[in-house]
Amino acid sequence: MLIPRTRLAILVVAAVFCPPTAEVGPAPGTAGRLIRYEITCPVCRQVFTAVTCSGANTDEGVDRDLFGRASGPQPEYYRIATCPRCGYSGYETDFRESGVVPADVRNRILKRPQLTLPKGFTPASDPLDLDAAVRYELAITCYQWQKRSDEALAWLHLRAAWIQRDEGSALPPDRGLARVMEFARMWRPKPTPKDNQAEVEMQLATRIAEAVAGGRFTRYQRPYVDLTLAMLLRRHGENRQAAPMLDGLIESNPFPTALQDAIRRMRDSIDRERKHQVAAAECFERALLGNQISEANRPAACYLLGELNRRIGRDREAVRWYDQALESPGVDEQLKTWADQQRAWAAAGEVEN
Ligand SMILES: [Zn+2]
Repeated sequence: MLIPRTRLAILVVAAVFCPPTAEVGPAPGTAGRLIRYEITCPVCRQVFTAVTCSGANTDEGVDRDLFGRASGPQPEYYRIATCPRCGYSGYETDFRESGVVPADVRNRILKRPQLTLPKGFTPASDPLDLDAAVRYELAITCYQWQKRSDEALAWLHLRAAWIQRDEGSALPPDRGLARVMEFARMWRPKPTPKDNQAEVEMQLATRIAEAVAGGRFTRYQRPYVDLTLAMLLRRHGENRQAAPMLDGLIESNPFPTALQDAIRRMRDSIDRERKHQVAAAECFERALLGNQISEANRPAACYLLGELNRRIGRDREAVRWYDQALESPGVDEQLKTWADQQRAWAAAGEVEN
């Protein structure tokens, strides 16, 4: 199958900069599927079933911080396995026979209180009952106790941020919201198979914002239009814009209870995503300044540091790191294009602030 050029480039960007333990999605259009496998915990020797996602894709687009969404199961949800007995967590490779856990860390994990698993989650539970956000938190703790590299920890935090974004973007079915979404189709740019779907949705958000600014909606429509816009921005982690909109909607309280509760959850997920982004930025920066990152991965690490700083509101630092990415030898063309565009965005924010 011929892979459209733009999408191929995006896949390459996402692929090159994944850590060695990560899986990389193959061709677009390939439906991902979940595979169960038996694995042994290197800490407590419990044999348990884990789940991985095989044959994934990025058909639903790639956010500018490299979070790729698949049609079908989302691979990022299934990268981390967790022992249902002691809570030890990590990538599949961390569980293989070669995955040695130092004795002091083993003892720490086995000593009560263990890594905290949700009440009722036992070796008899279905692995899918454990929230991916919990798995990442546990893996981060295990990596910290094992004193794993800053780069490895940065990726765990970044992925944990993506999980918060994805889990935090959902809203319950609502008739008013469905009507606005239907109406919004008028502004949706016509996507072609080679378009990055994340960018198509961001263009839609821009068009809706322009229509709002142009006074196109009645005061009865406005809350639902504002919510649609906030949801689109939240979905792509543009939280500096989404958060104040959600705060306004929480304060004005114009929706049924179920929707209002979901908006609060969406708002809370922004704080959790930000916490992981701040930690990821610290880890990437330490890794870069300590020359811990290979030459091949340096441009992407600099770019991600720009993107993380932009997303958490540090525009000046963001510009500095985009510049570093652009000046890196061997920077990928797609990454260069994105770094240029994102740099301009952050530079505009820097002037505003
Ligand atoms: Zn275990």
